[in-house]
Amino acid sequence: SRTTESNKTTEDTKFVCQRATPLKHHNSKFTDALEILERHAVQITRIEEAAKLSSVGSHSKKVIQDILENGSSTEVQGIISSDFFKSMEIFSSIYGCGPATARKWYEKGYRSMADVIQAVSDGMKLTEQQAMGLKCYSDLVQPVPREEAINIKDIVVKELNTVQPNCTVELVGGYRRGKPSGHDVDILITHQDDDIVEGLLAKLVARLEKLGHMLHKDLMVGRNPHFENKNSYLKGVKGIADGNKRQGGHMDSLDHCFCMFQVGTTSESERLETTQASPESDKTGSCTDTCPGGSGGSAVRRVDLIVTPPKQFTFALLGWTGSKQFNRSLRDYAWKILKIKLSNHGMWDHNHVPPRQIEASSEQEIFDELKLEYREPQDRNA
Ligand code: ATP
Ligand code: MN
Ligand code: MN
Repeated sequence: SRTTESNKTTEDTKFVCQRATPLKHHNSKFTDALEILERHAVQITRIEEAAKLSSVGSHSKKVIQDILENGSSTEVQGIISSDFFKSMEIFSSIYGCGPATARKWYEKGYRSMADVIQAVSDGMKLTEQQAMGLKCYSDLVQPVPREEAINIKDIVVKELNTVQPNCTVELVGGYRRGKPSGHDVDILITHQDDDIVEGLLAKLVARLEKLGHMLHKDLMVGRNPHFENKNSYLKGVKGIADGNKRQGGHMDSLDHCFCMFQVGTTSESERLETTQASPESDKTGSCTDTCPGGSGGSAVRRVDLIVTPPKQFTFALLGWTGSKQFNRSLRDYAWKILKIKLSNHGMWDHNHVPPRQIEASSEQEIFDELKLEYREPQDRNA
């Protein structure tokens, strides 16, 4: 039954969410290799090649065994040193460039960033996101220190307060798990009133745009089935499930704005300091010279703003805190062991027909409901 399955000792826990996974763990040799394998699998989407990877379980086992016996995996080393993998890694490090575009460029014969820049000056079309990603490349590859993430959050809190007082704002993602730096800043927002939540993100974004903080935005609102089906619980469950399928993977349907954010212009001396601290910043053309918003400004950062209805906040908090691998394990465990569907929108017990929604007002309650020992965010670094 439920309890016996989840009360296992650390030696025989099948799911990562059943044990603590702090920032520094002892298995990085293996997880790093498996991550390469996974990234490579995502990059390969041709059917005949995907077929080779059909048995991922035994494939991973082979890699782990290889590392145990020889200190490293020949296969993973091979992938890392392959032309294809190297180019794919470079191209997909550009914001707005996914595996499909990266492969397209590879097949056109491009291998390096310089090849792509040349192609662009020869007239190759980029999406608006890719153009910005390339322009601000040297800024966006620099990790964001925690202090700066907190500063950005404080700006968001301040400006949000001018358009709508009494919101709840949380810095989520890696920082909430205790990481000292991250690749972006994830900020989760809610308000206790459903009617205020609808349309809140558009107001906030307009305000941040007016102040010049938004150099680029990818705003997606109005797809949350919670609002479409406010009066029909059943449709709500179905809508959320369908919505997830449409987008594939772990993407949710919460209102979000993925943007490029600039805190503001800094003094000339501060600018000099940052330039000296990052000598690479000249390689692809420093963003501060070329980005539309900045003439000697502070670094451009990726910021994710997410707004949730109050009832979904706890689930979004858990989901947007991550890690991605932890979420995956938690959802896998919830479904396989308990027949509970867990998402950033809520959880549904499928042992009932129709599925019964389980509410929760804290992360602790979600863990309790899942018969799992509670894990603090810093122990969710799977
Ligand atoms: P980093 O410090 O590199 O940013 P991170 O853990 O914060 O690492 P993110 O990619 O920013 O990684 O994602 C934060 C969390 O939010 C992850 O757990 C991820 O699963 C989740 N997440 C990210 N994007 C989405 C999305 N579109 N829909 C649902 N969940 C998402
Ligand atoms: Mn993040
Ligand atoms: Mn993010």
